[in-house]
Amino acid sequence: MALPDESVVHGSKASPQDLPAVDRLLRAPDTQSLIAAHGHTLVAGEARALLDALRPRAVAGQLPLADVQPEAMQAALLERVQARLAPRMQRVLNLTGTVIHTNLGRALLADEALAHLLRLMAGPNNLEYDLATGGRGDRDSVVEELLTTLTGAEAATVVNNNAAAVLLTLGAMARDREVIVSRGELVEIGGAFRMPDVMASAGAHMVEVGTTNRTHPRDYEEAITERTALLLKVHTSNYAVQGFTASVDESVLAGIAHARGLPVATDLGSGSLVDLAAYGLPREPLPQEKLAAGCDVVTFSGDKLLGGPQAGLIVGSKEAVGRIRKFPMKRALRMSKLPLAALEATLRLYLRPERLAQDLPTLRLLTRPLEAIQATARAVHGPLAEAVAPRFTVEPVALQGQIGSGSLPVERLPSAGLALAPAGITRKGIGRALDQLAQALRQLPLPVIGRIADDRLLLDLRCLEDAADLLGQLPHLRERLA
Ligand SMILES: *Cc1c(COP(=O)(O)O)cnc(C)c1O
Repeated sequence: MALPDESVVHGSKASPQDLPAVDRLLRAPDTQSLIAAHGHTLVAGEARALLDALRPRAVAGQLPLADVQPEAMQAALLERVQARLAPRMQRVLNLTGTVIHTNLGRALLADEALAHLLRLMAGPNNLEYDLATGGRGDRDSVVEELLTTLTGAEAATVVNNNAAAVLLTLGAMARDREVIVSRGELVEIGGAFRMPDVMASAGAHMVEVGTTNRTHPRDYEEAITERTALLLKVHTSNYAVQGFTASVDESVLAGIAHARGLPVATDLGSGSLVDLAAYGLPREPLPQEKLAAGCDVVTFSGDKLLGGPQAGLIVGSKEAVGRIRKFPMKRALRMSKLPLAALEATLRLYLRPERLAQDLPTLRLLTRPLEAIQATARAVHGPLAEAVAPRFTVEPVALQGQIGSGSLPVERLPSAGLALAPAGITRKGIGRALDQLAQALRQLPLPVIGRIADDRLLLDLRCLEDAADLLGQLPHLRERLA
């Protein structure tokens, strides 16, 4: 806040009587223009809140007289109104090195998906209206044909997210009955999503078989009883069991299940629709492979490797998907028109696989050539070093990034970036200096999120496609560090 004349008011404190009445503050010329822009309700509410905040400090004799001068009061009110109107959800720069970052919103939407949303959402649409017959339509039909075309499934349905897809599948296929699952696959995805708890929420009884590291076909066979409803596989996407291991793959499991008239479901988690190995990336299992192996249901996320909005995709046999679709919980877990439109546009990109690495931002970032990332590092290095000098030094570094969101946690993506280290400071002060730097970066107009490791702040530049996003903010950073 600007002090009008520090030399005059220095040291003097305001008393409660020095605070203006709300009416006087509202009549001030600057406040009047604020009211013209935003209306009386918001501005008057903030004016009252401002006075309420200042009063106790004035009573305590801790409020500088300068702060209650008309200019200072109006500036403070403007700041409050702007802060109130500022969106809490903001764009940020993800320089963590993790491309699909759950805390940073996961997959980025493709231009086509954004354009589709913009075109559709301002007006009515045919979400549940059949334009051919003029009768009621089914919102699933917006994406079902795309999903069956892309995965080879007989049928498909979609829900709010993959956690919902798993919950719904278990509820519809195994409520009050038993689900057999390997002890090596009882995953926790994060938060409250733990496979045993999801089973319980769905009303299914979990029957664990095998051990943490080894599960065999006979383990499943011996556990099947007349109470069994489903055999479940869970892709252990966020950890790896290595060494002396054995698991039963879907084709064997489907053989065991189908011989007894039982279905098999697989929760893939990330579930890429294209073979990542073709792009030089670590391989992830594909829904189409799991269906070909005989799975009756495959569930996967919309906003992980698929590169779309938050969604839970369920593909499989007509019978299984039909049961899932008719289960009452489906209504509570259904997708809204917003992500559904984005999902449709995202899935349509997969009809042109040759263009996918350009059209789908997630894949574009994952396949960004190392030389391009290094070139960005070179372009940013000098200006960044200048902005953080003399408190920090900057040097280019080779980094190891991650795909993220539980995908392939043991695989690393060779990347490049910049390392910022505190200069001329004792060992003890390093942690604090780095925390301050991280905070200054987070407080930029376009917040920059890096990571701290080995006494340095690392900025992985894989996801910085436009260096100007960072360069344009360096004057603000310099100011914050001054
Ligand atoms: C991520 C994940 C989920 C949850 O998916 P959301 O789309 O985040 O709800 C479930 N199962 C597995 C194996 C996962 O990796």
